[in-house]
Amino acid sequence: MNLKISSNPVLISACLMGEACRFDGQGKHNSELLELLKDITLIPLCPEVEGGLPIPRPPAEIRGSGVFKENGEDVSDAFQKGASVCTEKSVAALVNQAILKSRSPACGCGKIYDGSFSKTLIDGDGIFTQALKAAGINCISDEQYLKSKLR
Ligand code: SF4
Repeated sequence: MNLKISSNPVLISACLMGEACRFDGQGKHNSELLELLKDITLIPLCPEVEGGLPIPRPPAEIRGSGVFKENGEDVSDAFQKGASVCTEKSVAALVNQAILKSRSPACGCGKIYDGSFSKTLIDGDGIFTQALKAAGINCISDEQYLKSKLR
């Protein structure tokens, strides 16, 4: 995949810039990725936090059209709210490209966990990625982006 990035700002999952916003209270700073993006204006967003979820928080996975914690609690509303708020911010900032953290139930792009909490991957997008794509924003995962640049 050959990704062309324009002069518009690029949305990036905030955890990839090191923000400690993940469910486990950690960031996922990706220096290899950030080096490749060093000349680009980045807009970091975390849709789970924007949706009102705390840090840390129990992990959640998509099952059917909803998002659930392992104990069965439905957190779909927070995921939908965060996706909607962050998509509006992205559109307002004229973002046309997003680089998103792989496999997250919000930011996953192409592959997500299947909802069984058994680390089983299926084809699909996170709730935020679905909203971004519906708004016409190109989406690629951090792993896909690195692969496209390093081959
Ligand atoms: Fe990172 Fe996205 Fe999860 Fe936030 S919702 S921690 S930005 S993968």
